[in-house]
Amino acid sequence: MRTVLCTEIIKNVREMCIEANHFLSSDMREVFETAKEKERSPLGTQILAQLEENLQIAADDKIPICQDTGMAVLFVKLGQDVHVDGGSLTDALNEGVRQGYKEGFLRKSVVGDPILRVNTKDNTPAVIHYDIVDGDQIEITIAPKGFGSENMSRVFMLKPADGIEGVKEAVLTAVRDAGPNACPPMVVGVGIGGTFEKCAYLSKKALTRNLNEKPQISWVKELEEELLEKINKLGIGPGGLGGSQTAFAVNVETYPTHIAGLPVAVNICCHVNRHVTRVL
Ligand code: SF4
Repeated sequence: MRTVLCTEIIKNVREMCIEANHFLSSDMREVFETAKEKERSPLGTQILAQLEENLQIAADDKIPICQDTGMAVLFVKLGQDVHVDGGSLTDALNEGVRQGYKEGFLRKSVVGDPILRVNTKDNTPAVIHYDIVDGDQIEITIAPKGFGSENMSRVFMLKPADGIEGVKEAVLTAVRDAGPNACPPMVVGVGIGGTFEKCAYLSKKALTRNLNEKPQISWVKELEEELLEKINKLGIGPGGLGGSQTAFAVNVETYPTHIAGLPVAVNICCHVNRHVTRVL
């Protein structure tokens, strides 16, 4: 049994919140460069240049890459041989978010009740997904999620007979409907299978997968490539002002499902697609 102190968790989460909001991850920078090379529309090229300038200013001046610094979504892989000392793990994760958003001067975007809508003023609580795994480490991924793109996300409860063509149509419908509202170029996370809530979880998790990592299942890899091509033919373009670079990437995650269903979720993220991972 290995001991991890709450103070260490708080410190790391605090730093990760600031890092995720100030700097684009290396995989996102790579797809950004590729999009710049591929875009042919003059307006699309101009928008990409402006987005790049914004990223540079944020990095130089240590300010957020977007004013919507998001709701903090955390994916935590907790090794079953870890003992968390000094308090509860959930409290430590929320305290890290609280400190990170305060010290980083990141916008506090969380309301404590969805109807009464009073701001909690510290961006907590975070949305935390736990996964118990083998080992004696804790892997934490932080993905601050802006709601311009979150609001354009969808769940489709397809029938098995809809098949893969139905899945493609669902993804294209969600992206088409999102249009400029998701601050393109987007990253499109897709969850296929499981249940209603499981496919939504998978689609969110898909956004945090390194864009250089390709799926092991061949039909999933082919689906990602085909969807990216089809999305980029929609003509939405950077900033929604036209062009060929509507999406940087499509990441698909799958899970077994029931004989009577084919759940599909599409979680759209914008051109900042923030995610940072550390292992403690
Ligand atoms: S969708 Fe993304 S880029 Fe657009 S406002 Fe929200 S966080 Fe910022």
